[in-house]
Amino acid sequence: MNFRNLESVMMTFLLIALLAGCTSSDGSERQMDIVPGENLAQTVGLVEKVLTKEEQDALTPEMVIQSLKEGNDRFMRNDLTARNHSAQVRKSVQAQYPKAIILSCVDSRVPVEDVFDRGIGDVFVARVAGNFVNEDILGSMEFACKVSGAKLILVMGHEHCGAVKSAIDGVELGNITPMLAKIKPAIEQVVHDGEKNSKNETFVHKVSESNVRHTIDQIRANSPILKEMEENGEIKMVGALYDMDNGKVEFLK
Ligand SMILES: [Zn+2]
Repeated sequence: MNFRNLESVMMTFLLIALLAGCTSSDGSERQMDIVPGENLAQTVGLVEKVLTKEEQDALTPEMVIQSLKEGNDRFMRNDLTARNHSAQVRKSVQAQYPKAIILSCVDSRVPVEDVFDRGIGDVFVARVAGNFVNEDILGSMEFACKVSGAKLILVMGHEHCGAVKSAIDGVELGNITPMLAKIKPAIEQVVHDGEKNSKNETFVHKVSESNVRHTIDQIRANSPILKEMEENGEIKMVGALYDMDNGKVEFLK
């Protein structure tokens, strides 16, 4: 066997080892297939799969919650799935079958897909400062769940939220004023004996959690479609807070 042949055999073993080693607890999400003609040196070991309709149909809301929790564990371990984005783009061009819609704040320190280790075609993401709902975001959620088959609505607030702090302090500026007005009802619902300003971290935390719960109440109150889907067990609505200090997503009870 000459050196070139030996090198080729070693590459084959390396490929097999890589393929065997990349199946995680949520199995299918890390399966790979090699596209003929791909540059193997750059794409070997990368996940190319995108969700199919059959896979979306087979999911329950509980399975989606579990998959997001496992993705967040990988994010916290710095073990994000390596994906072949160009292959995922090609495979998802005709249709999409995402498993969830996540409503998040616009904060640049909350990279939603990364936080849950999601790739192309995995989740819808709606973002607005202070993660509240209005008619447009409710419409987007109805599209995600009723039309596109998503099984979960996750409303995710976060610690140290500038929008929440500004709402607490009564900031007024341009279009920010009516935007913050959407968060104010959540402030009024908080029971708190101490100081009620943005310097009080305990109070800010309570308002952030209250804001997530208020948003979920608003979804139920203003979207008969989503409320009915929830009552039928077709979807779940859950809240969570993202902790900027360690990257953990705490799902609310
Ligand atoms: Zn924020």
